[in-house]
Amino acid sequence: MCRLKSSSAKRPKQEYQIIVAFHVRVLAAVQGAWSETAWLMLREKGLYEVDLWESVPRMEKILQECIATLTQDQEPEVFISRSRCSLCHWYNHCYTIAKADQHLSLLPGVTPTRYTQLQALNLTTVEALATIQPAKLEPLPGFGGETARKLVRQAQAVLQNCALPGESNAELPARSQTNGSRSSSNNGKHFQPQTIPTAEVELYFDIEAEPSLNLIYLHGVLVVDRAQQTEVFHSLLAEKPEDESKIWQELLDLMWAYPNAPIFHFCPYEVQTMGRLAELYETPIARIQPLLPRFIDLHDRITKSVTLPVESYALKHIARWLGFDWRDSTANGAQSIYWYAQWLATGDRGFLNSILVYNEDDCRATYHIKDWLVDFLQETIEHPQAL
Ligand code: SF4
Repeated sequence: MCRLKSSSAKRPKQEYQIIVAFHVRVLAAVQGAWSETAWLMLREKGLYEVDLWESVPRMEKILQECIATLTQDQEPEVFISRSRCSLCHWYNHCYTIAKADQHLSLLPGVTPTRYTQLQALNLTTVEALATIQPAKLEPLPGFGGETARKLVRQAQAVLQNCALPGESNAELPARSQTNGSRSSSNNGKHFQPQTIPTAEVELYFDIEAEPSLNLIYLHGVLVVDRAQQTEVFHSLLAEKPEDESKIWQELLDLMWAYPNAPIFHFCPYEVQTMGRLAELYETPIARIQPLLPRFIDLHDRITKSVTLPVESYALKHIARWLGFDWRDSTANGAQSIYWYAQWLATGDRGFLNSILVYNEDDCRATYHIKDWLVDFLQETIEHPQAL
């Protein structure tokens, strides 16, 4: 039995099932008999029986490919797959090669399956992908019209190193990095992006969570008062796990203290967590429901409005391209979880301070992206003739 993190899908990831099949094979070699059943123990969903008739042949094929690769003198072509490579010891080595080669795997949306299709068409460079007609990619397996257009648009943004209006607004010209200068002339057409409100007071919200404890230990809220020209960061921190309920009530109080302020966040997690905590702590519907329309997911807005020359549409990649720097450049969500565990184990407040700095910078990065996006979209609407 293998004990692994659960995925959100109904079936566990193929990688997990392949690992189980490999363990079965190793046991068969040692014991001289194949197991009839094998199980995955998923952290949140319990036991899952792996179909060995399906997974063993797949594992054998991968194993043979691996052995063939290892017996060759020439190393295989790198393919940076964020979910797999980020945990690999070879990541820095492979990423350096991929970066030097401007490898297509660094483009968001280029999956291994799609890359195989692109290779068959001899489209292995950013330049080649940027100049292909999307219609030529559309019929390929794993593409379709929207993906084909987005991939070509993504390659164009990287090639020009500039932000391009979303693929549905492809007739509009490019605009360069943070200074807003334009890189080509406009043909006079207008587009109607989703509007993003700018209010006198705005909230920027980011959560820190410990998934293995199903615990929210920090609600970070940056209150930006444009009229007063103040920016105040509120860190609602559960110094003890039992304080989760207390900081939930403090968060609601803070959000109600600014009843008209839009609440900006990045990705759906914050809204999903609001719903979960409201249920968990039996929060009256009248206290939670009016807050929800105020939430604005900037990840959703930016991916629908703009194509950026970034390797990922994660908060860090976008904010860094826009010139924002985290005070601790190595900090990330996993590090924050480690710091919280260390705080609980040692009582050293230095760990808490590191969490707060990291979380505040996430809120400030969201604020930075929001202001840039508003400027990008509004200038495009208001001054199309100047583009
Ligand atoms: S980082 Fe690891 S998984 Fe990714 S291409 Fe390199 S060796 Fe393979």
